[in-house]
Amino acid sequence: MDFSLTDDQRNLRDQIIRFAQNELSPGARDRDAAQEFPHDLWLKCGDMGLQGLPIPQEYGGTGLDPLSTVIALEALGYGCEDSGLVFSVCAHLLACTVPLWKHGSEEQKKKYLPRLCNGRLIAVNAMTEPEGGSDAFSMQTRAVENENGFTIKGTKIFCSNAPVADLAILYASTNPDRAFIGGITAFVVESFTPGYTKGQKFEKMGLRTCPIGELVFDDMEVSPESVLGKVGTGGPVFADSMEWERICLVAVHVGKMQWLLERAIDFAKNRSAFGKKIGDFQAISHKIADMKVRLEAARLLTYRAATLLGTRSSVGMDAAITKLFVSEELIKAAQDTIQIMGGYGFMTEYDVERALRDSVAGTIYSGTSEMQRNIIAKWLGL
Ligand SMILES: Cc1cc2nc3c(=O)[nH]c(=O)nc-3n(C[C@H](O)[C@H](O)[C@H](O)COP(=O)(O)OP(=O)(O)OC[C@H]3O[C@@H](n4cnc5c(N)ncnc54)[C@H](O)[C@@H]3O)c2cc1C
Repeated sequence: MDFSLTDDQRNLRDQIIRFAQNELSPGARDRDAAQEFPHDLWLKCGDMGLQGLPIPQEYGGTGLDPLSTVIALEALGYGCEDSGLVFSVCAHLLACTVPLWKHGSEEQKKKYLPRLCNGRLIAVNAMTEPEGGSDAFSMQTRAVENENGFTIKGTKIFCSNAPVADLAILYASTNPDRAFIGGITAFVVESFTPGYTKGQKFEKMGLRTCPIGELVFDDMEVSPESVLGKVGTGGPVFADSMEWERICLVAVHVGKMQWLLERAIDFAKNRSAFGKKIGDFQAISHKIADMKVRLEAARLLTYRAATLLGTRSSVGMDAAITKLFVSEELIKAAQDTIQIMGGYGFMTEYDVERALRDSVAGTIYSGTSEMQRNIIAKWLGL
């Protein structure tokens, strides 16, 4: 596979880096402290086409192939110091807009995709429940079919964008005797539907500008047209969206690893101790060399998985390998950078401690590291 960037991809990357550095990064530290979702910047991202990167232009998207999508997201992760905002964009795009594009009816696509792509609608993926996230398909939320459609009752938790979302991609059990195959149905539900309540909003360690919360569905009536895909196909709809999320979201991590590497190098070249630059100590230079090796491996895995995403019907194992490796390496890169920067790295004003706080959730959301290892082991016949 040849991953040399085309002129278009290089221009796209440079344009997004410039936009992110100039428009999105200023004020990121203060917004993190205030846990503030920057709606104005969200709309600017929409104007740039970020919320619709791989969606076809006929539905208002940017129309990029999966590899160009990850190159764009890598640029966003590198240039944007507001990782919570980037996470909001990715959760909306990869777990909501992509499944609507892939599995929605023509009517659903025409109704929602243009406004999802330009950011005028915000979406939330509602899967996890208070009783368990990893064992997602044993969900308690029920959708009972009746003459007018479905009555949905249940509670979802830890849903990114939930407090600000206009639209939910909601998963509910339509057949409690079944699970992944045939038991779950996906629904597209507008937040003003009677019975749809935005519940508790959570404070969190990192990604603090992405609001996260609970959604409560109390005998919510929805029409048959709200079904995304077919009744009983929610398992595969979710799995497909997770393949996109696991591969494309970690492109943001690759960009952040590049940003951290540059921080570490810059500090090592300028900080002196014992009469020389700390980069002259092998303990520091080798740590930085290892960061570079892990960054290149992470980038290659991500580009390769994105290329497969565009050509194969299922990339479950590649998505798991990529997500597992890159999310764990990002945490190491942030820890190494803090160690290299010593006390400065620990201080809020140097922005690296925020990168570490933001990185930790990467081994939890979109399936924990343990679950990625389970998936890989299963593909290996274990
Ligand atoms: C920042 C953030 C954003 C999120 N955004 C969303 C969102 O937008 N929508 C949404 O629906 N959810 C979202 N989530 C929820 C996320 O998907 C779940 O937290 C995750 O799937 C883990 O579920 P859990 O928290 O219930 O942990 P549990 O499933 O209870 O797991 C607890 C621990 O047990 C381990 N474990 C569980 N089962 C096994 C097993 N079979 N083998 C080995 N280890 C196992 C887990 O790996 C973990 O270490 C988000 C979470 C975070 C942190």
